[in-house]
Amino acid sequence: MRISVIGGGYVGLVSAVCFAELGHSVDLVEIDRAKCDAINAGHPPIYENGLEELLSAHAGKNLHAYVEYDHIKYSDIIFICVGTPQGPDGHPDLSNIISSSESIGRALRDTDDTRYHVVVVKSTVPPGTTEKQVIPSVLRQSGKKNDKIGFAVNPEFLREGMAVWDFMNPDRIVIGCRENRVGDLVEAAYSGIKAPVIRTGIAAAEMIKYASNAFLATKISYANEIGNICKKLGIDVYEVMRAVGRDSRIGPAFLNAGTGFGGSCLPKDVSALIALAEDLGENPVLLKSVMHINKLQPLRLIDLLIKRVGDLDGKKISVLGLSFKENTDDVRESRSVVVIKELISRGARVSAYDPRANQSMKRILPEVDYCSSASESLTDADACLVMTEWPEFAHLDKEFDLMKSRVIIEGRRILSCKDREGICW
Ligand code: NAD
Repeated sequence: MRISVIGGGYVGLVSAVCFAELGHSVDLVEIDRAKCDAINAGHPPIYENGLEELLSAHAGKNLHAYVEYDHIKYSDIIFICVGTPQGPDGHPDLSNIISSSESIGRALRDTDDTRYHVVVVKSTVPPGTTEKQVIPSVLRQSGKKNDKIGFAVNPEFLREGMAVWDFMNPDRIVIGCRENRVGDLVEAAYSGIKAPVIRTGIAAAEMIKYASNAFLATKISYANEIGNICKKLGIDVYEVMRAVGRDSRIGPAFLNAGTGFGGSCLPKDVSALIALAEDLGENPVLLKSVMHINKLQPLRLIDLLIKRVGDLDGKKISVLGLSFKENTDDVRESRSVVVIKELISRGARVSAYDPRANQSMKRILPEVDYCSSASESLTDADACLVMTEWPEFAHLDKEFDLMKSRVIIEGRRILSCKDREGICW
């Protein structure tokens, strides 16, 4: 099959590389020329486990990246994977979706009419976006009717840090479409992957992504609320959740109490669902509470820190872990950003270390002192905050002796040394 992928970020690049690995011929369109050149040279502009090996195996062979849309006219299927970042009022900013739909339509204008194309929205978009915005844009710009172009929604559920594995081993593949012919073509793109396929309507597929992410966010805020109560009672919330999660109605995932959820998806998707509900005259109190807990949770670390070392003015605080989770260099909405900003506003000096995300954080917070190892960050620090569950932090112990004193506070449960205190344990 010939497949085009629009957008070469976490979802687009991983999808493109995995479709190439499944044996398809893939054209990736990425408007950022530097990213496009890096991809063609076999160097992923982002870090993901296993991505570099797969990209170098397929770049220049059955995977080519372009800044222009011309090549998509040869494609059977075109997956839209552009970003849908949060807008100022909680609604997602859909400008990349609109502009990519228009570009797809223009590129398909000159194709011969015997060819059938399917345009698939993989980006996360509010219910109604594909029907009301993507389909009309593509049809208007292409001058074609919908008997020549089919449309589907195929939400992506991959986790950053595990993206390649998740793409190849999904729990389910959701395909929202109006016609079987379209669904069959999208399903064929995934042939070779073993997973249940769920066919739905177009808007239902869009909603499935929001409902899934809102549930995961709810589990995290719930675990944090229970954790905050446990902390006051001297109970280890991890002991509690280990047993709670064994209930098959609940499940063990996303019950790790800590500083809350970050990343490019959960915060923006829950905010988008709240905004959508309010547009419809609903008051989504549960979702609002989920966000409220998430906003307050990282600040509990600062309260604990002040209890231990007093006024933060002039203190050197080591922050270990900057990415929003382990095994990625993505710092979007990372709890480390919130915590470091608070530390700086209180006059603290921050020395930070992350195995992968120093560079991406430097673009947001240049005033931080970035270190090349945990030991360097810890040297002479008044206290340490552990923010990300990087496996290499698990065995830190004697490195903490480099600090003025061993004030070690964990926002994520990862350490095994003595003297550590957890945010809710
Ligand atoms: P990203 O910001 O990492 O990548 C988007 C890419 O699209 C960028 O490289 C950008 O330059 C490119 N782009 C923007 N406009 C373009 C255009 N008109 N034509 C071609 N390229 C264009 O975003 P992402 O994290 O990959 O997310 C993409 C979508 O997938 C979002 O809707 C997101 O919510 C959803 N999603 C993300 C994840 C995740 O873990 N990151 C998981 C599931 C779903």
